Parts: sequence; structure tokens; C-alpha cells
Amino acid sequence: MLVNAYGAHAGGRPLEPLQITRRAPGAHDVQIDIAFCGICHSDLHQVRAEWQGTQFPCVPGHEIVGRVAAVGAHVHGFRPGDLVGIGCIVDSCKHCADCEDGLENYCDGMIGTYNFPTPDAPGWTLGGYSQQIVVHERYVLRIRHPEEQLAAVAPLLCAGITTYSPLRHWNVGPGKKVGVVGIGGLGHMGIKLAHALGAHVVAFTTSDAKREAALQLGADEVVVSRNAEEMAAHAKSFDLILNTVAAPHNLDAFLVLLKRDGTMTLVGAPATAHDSPNVFNLIMKRRTLAGSMIGGIAETQEMLDFCAEHGIVADIELVRADQINDSYERMLKGDVKYRFVIDNATLAG
Ligand code: NAP
Ligand code: ZN
Repeated sequence: MLVNAYGAHAGGRPLEPLQITRRAPGAHDVQIDIAFCGICHSDLHQVRAEWQGTQFPCVPGHEIVGRVAAVGAHVHGFRPGDLVGIGCIVDSCKHCADCEDGLENYCDGMIGTYNFPTPDAPGWTLGGYSQQIVVHERYVLRIRHPEEQLAAVAPLLCAGITTYSPLRHWNVGPGKKVGVVGIGGLGHMGIKLAHALGAHVVAFTTSDAKREAALQLGADEVVVSRNAEEMAAHAKSFDLILNTVAAPHNLDAFLVLLKRDGTMTLVGAPATAHDSPNVFNLIMKRRTLAGSMIGGIAETQEMLDFCAEHGIVADIELVRADQINDSYERMLKGDVKYRFVIDNATLAG
């Protein structure tokens, strides 16, 4: 089946309208009419070939929400009309230790929602900047938010789970002091979620203008990271720092803010490497520098249900498909509060 999409034909080219094919739903597949799709910074990294291995044409998008259009004969968990989401994962090996632990995100055979091998044409997966998607039921998430919030739920499928998973893994809750570095798509969700989990939250930003907004998102304190005095006031005090920054920067400036046994986990994935941290900043206080990648399917459902229960959605700016290229430029300037979401109805052409 042919559907309209938005994608790029090469790394240096802007995104433009194109048509792609979707497979007919198999016995375990769910066919989804996509209503909205968030714009993640990872989309920009990949469609511009900043990370290695982008296949073209590339149709990005892994913060997908919509309604079930049809289901295969063996699908029992979903029915046409259900509100559902697809995040960053559309397949995995289903039998390794990671899959059995519900951590499909760490399966060596994980198939991402776009730019991963598939038997479907053209040979790699194509994402949510499109009218429809067909996905195995195991990777389909149920949305329990009210329908009016659907567009603002989309970013939970990547920005939400990528921040929720490390916050849970490192046991964030009451009595814990948590830093969130970078107030963008991921960071603003990290602030909301850490606050909802009961932690004392400190937001770190390079933008003085985001100070007030960070408090409204749920931060207890805000630090402008370019200000050495403000940074020094938090020395040796954090249990966890969640670093979402999309560009190389000085990690030592944050490592020294961790208390003994504290952890900084990187979720930001810049195109070029950070300078190595000073090893003394790790060994002196037995600190850990870690990483974390999205989250498994069960945990993504847990996060969506947690957000529905606590009334949490992303702060979004809804855009038309023909505004995607402009949205990328604005995202690079930090000019978005805090996630662009595409209205996929504008793909109808
Ligand atoms: P985003 O909306 O662009 O936010 C990134 C934020 O980082 C910016 O808003 C800015 O915050 C800060 N920042 C940007 N450039 C900076 C610089 N040179 N120095 C210091 N701070 C800077 O991006 P996003 O969608 O949240 O994604 C963030 C990163 O996470 C990307 O690299 C993305 O690929 C990656 N990611 C990883 C995973 C994973 O599984 N680990 C999943 C999704 C995305 P302030 O203005 O507040 O300073
Ligand atoms: Zn993403």
C-alpha cells in the first residue's frame, strides 16, 4: 500500500514529500493511521547522516501516536479504533536474555523504527513522518490519556521513555537529588518525570531565558551552567545527573557535582565525541559515568500509564509537514518549547 511521507534523499538534502509502501498487515501485525509524530533530535542526527550508516531515502520519526486501522488474524490485544503509540522499536529477536527480560532496547537484533534492516521495501525501516505504519503487536503501546492530549503524548514514546528508564534504573524518588542537563525535548520530560517521582530536581541549562520556565516544568532549582559560581554551589551533592545534551561538552564540570557513589548517565548522543573526562573526578569519590538507551516495551507501557495517571504530557509546538526543515533549524538554536510534533494530517497533500 502506498502512503505519503516526508523524508530526505541524501544527508545534505532537505526533507521533502515522497511516497513509500507499507506491507499488508500479517497475522500478528497492527496497522496504524498515524495522527501525530514528534521530532526528536535523533531524527536530525540521522537524516543529516551525522551518525554513521543512514540509508536513503530516510523517513525519520519514532514518537508515533494514532489509531488502529486494522489488525491481523492473530492479534487479540488491539482492535480497530484503539489509541496506540509506536516508539523507537518495531522488532527484536524475541528470545535472547534481553528480550526475555523485557529489555528489547538492548537486544542485538533490535530493529529501530527507521533506518534498520527489514524484508519490507526498500530494505530498511521507514518511520513516523508518514500516514501509516504496520508493526508487530508486541511493539505496540496502549495510550490511556484523553484523546485531546494525543499530540502531546507523542514525545513520551522517545523523550519520555529515554528519561524515565534511567530515572527508574537509578532509583530516583523522595530524598534523592537529581540534576537534568539540557532543557530540550528529553530534558523537559526528565524534569517533569523526576519531579513526579518525588526527587529534588535541579535543571541545568545554557540558556538564561529558560530559568523561569524550568521552575514551571517542576524543577526545584535552576543552574545556568555557564556560571561557575552557580555550579560550585552544588559541588559533591547529586545522587544522579541525567545528561541530555546533544553536543560535545565538558563532562568534568558535571562529574564534580556528584556526591560519593553518584552517577552521571549520558543519554545525549552527539555526533562527535566528548573530551575524555579527568579520571580523578571518577576515582576520588567512586563516581560512575554511565549511559542509557531508550527503554524496553514493558517499561514504555509503564511510563505511559504513569504519565496518564499523573496527567503528564510533553510541552509541544504542533507543526505542518512542510515546516519540518524549519523545525530542525529552530531545534538547533534551542528555539522550541520543548518538542515539535508533526500533525500527520498535513501529509495528505
Ligand atoms: P534537543 O531538544 O535539541 O535538546 C538538547 C538540549 O541540549 C538543548 O535544548 C540545550 O538545552 C542543550 N544543548 C544543546 N547544545 C548544547 C551545547 N553545545 N552545550 C550545552 N548544551 C547544549 O534534543 P533532544 O531531542 O532532547 O535530544 C537530546 C540528545 O539525546 C540528542 O543527541 C539525541 O540524539 C539523544 N537521544 C538519545 C536517546 C537515547 O536512547 N539515549 C534517545 C533519544 C534522543 P539548554 O538550552 O537548556 O542548554
Ligand atoms: Zn528519539
